[in-house]
Amino acid sequence: MPVERTLSIVKPDGVARNIIGDVYRRFEQAGLRIIAARMLQLSQADAEAFYGVHRERPFYKDLVKFMTSGPVIVQVLEGEGAIAKNRDVMGATDPKKATLGTIRADLATSIDENVVHGSDAADTAAREIAFFFRETEICPRTR
Ligand code: ATP
Ligand code: MG
Repeated sequence: MPVERTLSIVKPDGVARNIIGDVYRRFEQAGLRIIAARMLQLSQADAEAFYGVHRERPFYKDLVKFMTSGPVIVQVLEGEGAIAKNRDVMGATDPKKATLGTIRADLATSIDENVVHGSDAADTAAREIAFFFRETEICPRTR
């Protein structure tokens, strides 16, 4: 399995509920290394652009409103098969359908407020990492 990078976000509900550490612990225990991280508050334009693929979906307006409602932490995760592994650690979009032991099953309150974002494929991972980080801000482990 090749080493990959993926973009992860602890969404505003996760930051507000003080569960950043719980989320990070799950990444680390799954063998995902945090190689870049930053806290920020998304502007309306940022959130609209980031979730632009969902522009036509009925939940788009609410999603943008939620994602701009408070600070988020964005991070790049690296590891073998990191894109799929992160999606496994996150669990299904709807926490009611997520497998027990996943972030969303254990920590999320609803499909709207589901604690984490994770890239869903290699092309989106590359695009989403570049959306938030310059290459010089990404620090792969040297030890
Ligand atoms: P994310 O992209 O945030 O990692 P995801 O890939 O599991 O989540 P997507 O289909 O990309 O799910 O949807 C993006 C976000 O939009 C979801 O995380 C969720 O907050 C919201 N969303 C998706 N489907 C619905 C829905 N049917 N009703 C309400 N909100 C939804
Ligand atoms: Mg998605």
